[in-house]
Amino acid sequence: MIQEMRKEFMNAEKNVLAACEKAKEVQPKLNAVVTFIDPSEQLSHLEEHKDGLMAGVPIVLKDNVCTKGIRTTASSKILDNYIPVYDAFIVEKLRNAGAITIAKASLDELAMGGTNTTAYTGPVHNPWDITRMSGGSSGGSAVLVASGVVPFAIGSDTGDSVRKPASYCGVIGVKPTYGRISRYGIIPYSSSLDHVGYFTRNVEDACIGLEVLAGRDDRDMTTSTKEVPAFSKLLNSSLEGKKIGVIKNVIDSIKNQETVQIFNELIEKCKAQGAEIVDVTFDNNLMRAILPTYYMIANCEATANHSNLDGIRFGVQEPGESTEEVMIQSRTEGFGIQVRKRFITGSYGLFVENQEKLFRKAQRVRRLIVEEMKNALTSVDCLIAPASSSIAPKLEGEQMDELSEDYLIAENHMVMGNFSGYPSMTLPMGFSKECPLGVNITCRAFEEETMFNIAAGIEKCTGLKDIIAEVK
Ligand code: GLN
Repeated sequence: MIQEMRKEFMNAEKNVLAACEKAKEVQPKLNAVVTFIDPSEQLSHLEEHKDGLMAGVPIVLKDNVCTKGIRTTASSKILDNYIPVYDAFIVEKLRNAGAITIAKASLDELAMGGTNTTAYTGPVHNPWDITRMSGGSSGGSAVLVASGVVPFAIGSDTGDSVRKPASYCGVIGVKPTYGRISRYGIIPYSSSLDHVGYFTRNVEDACIGLEVLAGRDDRDMTTSTKEVPAFSKLLNSSLEGKKIGVIKNVIDSIKNQETVQIFNELIEKCKAQGAEIVDVTFDNNLMRAILPTYYMIANCEATANHSNLDGIRFGVQEPGESTEEVMIQSRTEGFGIQVRKRFITGSYGLFVENQEKLFRKAQRVRRLIVEEMKNALTSVDCLIAPASSSIAPKLEGEQMDELSEDYLIAENHMVMGNFSGYPSMTLPMGFSKECPLGVNITCRAFEEETMFNIAAGIEKCTGLKDIIAEVK
């Protein structure tokens, strides 16, 4: 899609305006956009970037990406009036590649959530069935790609926030290796887990996306100096001789047998293409510990990162008699229930007397989980499992047992990709009740080339490429 649009550079303006129109047309049903952007100013500079890898391609940014002079809310009431004075590094990268940003997309408030039902602008709807959720936290970006508005959208992934909505929406969601893409100018959530990620509708576009976004940035000291390969030119969909490890703990935890069946059919097709399939079994106690470990680390880091959201420095200020009262009122009024809950957990984990037994302990458990992955990936090229245990849940009236392995393991295993920083992506594997289901693969650090190749092989097996949801 990106390649085709780029070739149609002479029609760029028409394509961009059509995307703007479509974004507005689906908005009443999907509620995916926080702010529409008038593209005229960007279009007037189009010629300067005509050789870029995304020349004339309309795109969308998650609304936690800072855009100079354009409101950036992170879907939180406290940032309703926040207009950044600088662009995120990736915004510069995308502009230089010729991409045209047409909208800022909704997310779970401050990227804390997996449902995109906590944005202060209301829930985002799934384009395959608008009574279902989009998944989160990058739900707005996912649905705008899935419904055919744009071929590319930026998200962020701290615990699976690109890969989960990708599964629910039938698109590709990529979280590259920690350090591949600069996070300068992304409103943080949990710095040791935060990654920039993105959505596309085919694997080739996923390669182009990383070529555009990756690279060292001195303003994010965690970025890598490693060379960025021309992934799209190196793409090879052969599965011959590829060693793929099926995460048994995930399969065994899934209640929905249709999901298991769709996954097993895919595995058979991969075998037929020459892949060697092996089972990988991790310590199940560690698997059950993924989510509590994640919440402890993420909430503690988020509490520290967001101490600057106090209504004093920037953002929405509530009145009060003293500075302290202004802060208390601004934070009480400015955050939703989900975020406040997480700040309470985070503050508790950071109390001096609790740090060792909660925060540090969680860091040690994280290390043990990463060791399991690292060991497994010495003998296989990638790990594979369904991205979620079922299709997108209904917005109303569906609840999972949060202590079940179906939830703790099957629904949340992709957090392992954030613990390790290993590259991980989701792509469509099939449909149930006319809604998509995704498969997730994870490879060794900085081996995105292998990941894209295996993904291209899977894409060939499923035939699910460039699928678009018709919003009804
Ligand atoms: N489900 C995770 C959470 O609620 C994902 C968040 C993310 O990746 N931003 O924190």
